Amino acid sequence: MQHWRVGDVTITRIIETEDRSMTAAAMLPEATPANLAPMAWLRPHFVSETGQLISSIHSLLVQSRGQRIVIDTCLGNDKPRIVPQWNQRQGRFLEDIAAAGFPRERVDFVVCTHLHPDHVGWNTMLVHDRWVPTFPSARYVFSALDWAWLDKAPVSALGDYAGDSVRPVLAAGQGECVAPDFRLTDEVWLESTPGHSPGHVSIHIASRGEHAIVTGDLMHHPCQIGRPRWSSPFDFDKAAALQTRLDFLERYGDTPVLIFGSHFATPSAGRIVRDGDAWRLDV
Ligand SMILES: [Zn+2]
Repeated sequence: MQHWRVGDVTITRIIETEDRSMTAAAMLPEATPANLAPMAWLRPHFVSETGQLISSIHSLLVQSRGQRIVIDTCLGNDKPRIVPQWNQRQGRFLEDIAAAGFPRERVDFVVCTHLHPDHVGWNTMLVHDRWVPTFPSARYVFSALDWAWLDKAPVSALGDYAGDSVRPVLAAGQGECVAPDFRLTDEVWLESTPGHSPGHVSIHIASRGEHAIVTGDLMHHPCQIGRPRWSSPFDFDKAAALQTRLDFLERYGDTPVLIFGSHFATPSAGRIVRDGDAWRLDV
């Protein structure tokens, strides 16, 4: 289990999957072994010896001002999904977060960077054939723009993740659809980073002069730090997603801000530094 400290804030990473998956390759069609080869800094953590992308699905557990905050809730158990590795999972996520000091009953906030199935899964769990909020005492924070979009969207080919992982939270009165600058504590707030989804947000963490950002899917893989023009077929608005990536690199490149990718494999976080005409992630 990886831990970080940002001033007084603690961050713990809980991995649900980490592998050289086909899913990662489908996310970034331009990230072929030949195109990745010039970025030697990606090996060995983010690209295998044979040029395959390595990626993960994980949650970050953040403790700030006595509040237990879960950022993104991965895939979840028992969910019917079309992607084989995502379908009807039986993982140990709840045991893992409890071992990290986050028993589900004691979580105060759940925040989703965006409403996609690999970020909302543990919002709910199956109890007596019904989907119920996994975290009974938590306020769930959703981007209002994302919910306005998903609420009207047809059921995704990936599975009815709105129906099994978002609507039950709202029906239970635990969901709050918020503006993209919402503050969870004075140390943790949302930052608007649209494009991958209409209301996609990143999570800014600041304490005692130290800063970190959880990027969600504004980048799927560290190779997009070196090649920000590589885009994902899953980006809702490709032009907006590209602009967000370029702005993000200009803003946080060559600064001490610690960057947490939501699908970046172990070691998962680092700093964006100059690499000739481009950028790279320094871990
Ligand atoms: Zn994702």
